[in-house]
Amino acid sequence: MTESGFDIAGLEAGHRPVSEFRYEKRPVVRGYNDRTLYVNVGNGRIAEKPVSADMRAKFTGGKGYGLRLLWDAVNPSTKWDDPENEINIAMGPVCGNTNYPGSGKSLVVSISPTTGIPIDCNVGGYFGPFLKFAGFDALEVQGKADRDVIVFIDGDDGVVSIFEAPGEAVDSHVLAEQMVAMFSRDEKDRQHISSVSAGTGAEHALIGCLNFSFYDKRRKVARLKQAGRGGIGTVFRDKKIKALVVRYSGLDVSSNNPADLAGLQETGLKLHREIVTLDDQQCRMREIGTAHLTEIMDEYDLLPTRNYKFGSSPDSPGLDSHAFSAMVTHGLPDGCWYGCTMACAKAADGFELATGPYRGHKVTVDGPEYETVAGCGSNIGVYDPRVVMELNFYCDTYGLDTISFGTSTAFVMECWEKGVLDSTRTGGLEMTWGNGPAVLELLHRIGRGEGFGLVAGLGVRGMKKYFAEHYGADPKLLQDIGCECKGLEYSQYVSKESLAQQGGYSMALKGPQHDEAWLIFMDMVNNRIPTFEDKAEALYYFPMFRTWFGLQGLCKLPWNDIEPADNASTDEPAKVPEHVENYLAIYKAITGNDLDRDGLIRQSARVYNFQKVFCIRMGKGRRIDDWPPYRMMGPVTVEEYESRADRYDKQLKEQVGIDPSGMGTPGKVAALRAYREDRYEKLLDAVYKRKGWTREGVPTVETLHDLGIDYPEVLEVVKPLLE
Ligand code: SF4
Repeated sequence: MTESGFDIAGLEAGHRPVSEFRYEKRPVVRGYNDRTLYVNVGNGRIAEKPVSADMRAKFTGGKGYGLRLLWDAVNPSTKWDDPENEINIAMGPVCGNTNYPGSGKSLVVSISPTTGIPIDCNVGGYFGPFLKFAGFDALEVQGKADRDVIVFIDGDDGVVSIFEAPGEAVDSHVLAEQMVAMFSRDEKDRQHISSVSAGTGAEHALIGCLNFSFYDKRRKVARLKQAGRGGIGTVFRDKKIKALVVRYSGLDVSSNNPADLAGLQETGLKLHREIVTLDDQQCRMREIGTAHLTEIMDEYDLLPTRNYKFGSSPDSPGLDSHAFSAMVTHGLPDGCWYGCTMACAKAADGFELATGPYRGHKVTVDGPEYETVAGCGSNIGVYDPRVVMELNFYCDTYGLDTISFGTSTAFVMECWEKGVLDSTRTGGLEMTWGNGPAVLELLHRIGRGEGFGLVAGLGVRGMKKYFAEHYGADPKLLQDIGCECKGLEYSQYVSKESLAQQGGYSMALKGPQHDEAWLIFMDMVNNRIPTFEDKAEALYYFPMFRTWFGLQGLCKLPWNDIEPADNASTDEPAKVPEHVENYLAIYKAITGNDLDRDGLIRQSARVYNFQKVFCIRMGKGRRIDDWPPYRMMGPVTVEEYESRADRYDKQLKEQVGIDPSGMGTPGKVAALRAYREDRYEKLLDAVYKRKGWTREGVPTVETLHDLGIDYPEVLEVVKPLLE
């Protein structure tokens, strides 16, 4: 036994080498290595690949690199569990910089088990930056191993190895600690180890996530950040990967070898000061992270409640930021990468688990983010923060996405309420609103791959099919209340009263995750896009702008969670112009290349349109796929309508031109629905046109040519749809 409590020598004795690859170490040059690492866990092949000048010019880095490599690896009939599917982790030129807050993100792409199209996740932790400084702009993992393997990238010695690892844990909170203990040379070296892992839940469900670790030297614990959406953890375990591990110990302020270190530091210092000065008045991210949003969401009727039926609850104070603030440890620099003064990666220490295989253990729980508070709290009627914390912990360590788990469980509960499910179908679980013990037991059954856990692990789209086929449930009702689009579960806002957010969710290329177009606050809280035209333009600009973070390896939060004091008086406050100028400045300081605002959008538009064509190539991405379930657009049921009757009656009168007096509620529900669906059709038309797409949502040849991505293989996908 080592000091860590693990029998590391015993674990190592079980290892069997598969293959090894030595590479030449060389420094990053102005944010780039210009080579990527290929690892095939099926046949043991490991190789480095040069990045072509065209790839660097057109795809920039990060998500762009990941998608380009994935496109070349798969074909239109590739399924998520085919060996050729890849998990690609890529960084981008800004990633790893320690001078500007939020510069440590990795972008992960794969063909998703739940959508069948490319999914992308933006994730913190040290793996991506260490991989970059180990010598690679991206890691491409392909193939399927027969037995559990670990891939170790030793960036200090320039060696990549694959070995069978039968003894190590699968659940992430144990595995991440084992990797630190196994690969660090001494106590100080622990912070130089980062791993990627999933968990036992990801082996049994389609909604698996990846955990990227970072060693917290103050807490002396390996902490976890999630690449949550779309089931990449499921792909990971299907490939029988236990962990990807990297070691790199040479980090300093100039590891990214920027063109202008002094300029970079100057811009970074400006933002550091702003965050420290303004955070208390604006977002309290440094105190409680994103969980500060819960009470604002409740106040504006945006907090998902009972499967998105409602946007607030009298019980929601139980989950407000003060409840979680009392549980997390304060006063520590909680950045998920060095140099992030925003420090929103909060954690509760010494949390004693009450259920499951680790019952009685005292653990550090990362989070919860507001999505977890809503998804594993209000949306399933749970208002006990300890239950939310426990769900958060187990989702993470089992490698399950808290958002998809929450939205799937909310769907299960409404199906229970509507009589689609009963205890004979759930294996005795009483899936009533707010039944925390039943939800925890459901989660453990997913972790064990047992009974109804396997059904819930299919996610919402899978359950809709299952319930219709096995229980004779009404497919139309399931479609209305099952909150997924393209196969991905909705993230956590009620979008009924925000047309812009309806589009932001449903038009998002990968499925309804708000990172592409988080417009709900802009639309409903700050009223910055009041007209139809404003909303359509926002659905052009913001997805393009926000794509840029994923090309660079940046976190989006420091862009607009803290705004300069005079931001409201600028021409375009929603864009936070001063921060956009910061980004242009740091891009130039790192790469040495000039970039203006149009150039930034153009970099993004190339990758965005490439991803759109990629989705079409894989069988989704057309108009019909951008259509939300009606629950996300308006009141499906009489109960929902009547809960907000004054609001809806007023809308019928003033917006639709119908006098609701004398009408029955079902008639009013139908009239409002017809109006809202027509309005959404018009929004699709306007946004597609602005993006240079056809009415079917297909990028035109002119658009692709203008962006310089009219590659023959790209035109081959779109041309038949343009005839
Ligand atoms: S703002 Fe939060 S999520 Fe973003 S880089 Fe900083 S600590 Fe990580």
